[in-house]
Amino acid sequence: MKYIDEYRDARIAHGLVAEIARRVTRPWVLMEICGGQTHTIMRYGLDELLPPEIELVHGPGCPVCVTPLETIDRAIRIAAHPDVTFVSYGDMLRVPGSESDLFRVKAAGGDVRVVYSPVEALKIARAMPERRVVFFGIGFETTAPANAKAVWQAKREGLRNFSMLASHVLVPPAMRLLLRSPHNRVQGFIAPGHVCTVMGYREYEELVREFHVPIVVGGFEPLDLLEAIRMLVEQLEAGRADAENQYARSVSYVGNVPAQRIMEEVYEVCDRKWRGVGLIPQSGLRLRAEYAAFDAERVFDVGDSCAEEPPECISALVLQGLKKPVDCPVFGGRCTPENPLGAPMVSAEGACAAYYQYRRHAIQGEARRG
Ligand code: SF4
Repeated sequence: MKYIDEYRDARIAHGLVAEIARRVTRPWVLMEICGGQTHTIMRYGLDELLPPEIELVHGPGCPVCVTPLETIDRAIRIAAHPDVTFVSYGDMLRVPGSESDLFRVKAAGGDVRVVYSPVEALKIARAMPERRVVFFGIGFETTAPANAKAVWQAKREGLRNFSMLASHVLVPPAMRLLLRSPHNRVQGFIAPGHVCTVMGYREYEELVREFHVPIVVGGFEPLDLLEAIRMLVEQLEAGRADAENQYARSVSYVGNVPAQRIMEEVYEVCDRKWRGVGLIPQSGLRLRAEYAAFDAERVFDVGDSCAEEPPECISALVLQGLKKPVDCPVFGGRCTPENPLGAPMVSAEGACAAYYQYRRHAIQGEARRG
């Protein structure tokens, strides 16, 4: 496939691996932030191709995985209202809340619908003025601009039956939290290419300076990731720490300025709880007061709740790169994509789902032999 196959060329991949092996002289722990990158690493076995000195750990960049349990519970309560049509991306439906999920609300007769963009949610609201249409707006800086635009458009049209349950999060504050942790092992980051397509990569320079940690913006194809790893190893071996851009075909230094403007217009930065990780200061986006009439949290009196993860689920450690999914005692047993105990097993970008999809047979084979 044009523009895809070029980035999956096995000969070039082996060349990059050989170059990494030539340069590396000591162990390095690298983290890819984005769950999409984790899936590429698992799918193509990139971690197994690399020299043993390079350890890849998986970061918190799966939007479904970090949406707090309390927000899922709130979504479930709103979706259960008889006059509400609740509209969401598909993978949110199976994410377990503390007692239920959106699929069960749908199965019980709730009007829960799957869409592929917020524009579809607006269309539903226009077509059904008698219903209260609530869009579940989650994700990182990648999805935030389109969701902001939908809210902006609803206000412009006076579409008063539309609102958004917003749970947006920002990548740099999460990286800062990881780097400040006394348990941090990460020595270099592959920054998320899609987020940086929107935001650029200048905001990562502050982290580079503060923590003397190299950050390379990486794409999502195998060659993108191997090249980003090569760039990180080059910096680490030379004792350098810079913000660099491997994904130059999509990412510029300043990013997509019109997208940043609409985010600025509609959202303000707030403290946000991340599922498994806890409260991260200034790591979220919420609707500004001018958009209160479109903010489902204010429109619906769903209140505050405090919910706990199932005790077996170690997703907090997985999302911080401190454990691998296979370290979880219930991985592939009591927790599978069909019966997920935690969000990382549900999402198409979750690390547990990636290991289950691409490594399960090898892991189970090893367990049988052991
Ligand atoms: S395998 Fe399941 S229970 Fe274990 S960390 Fe992953 S999502 Fe949580």
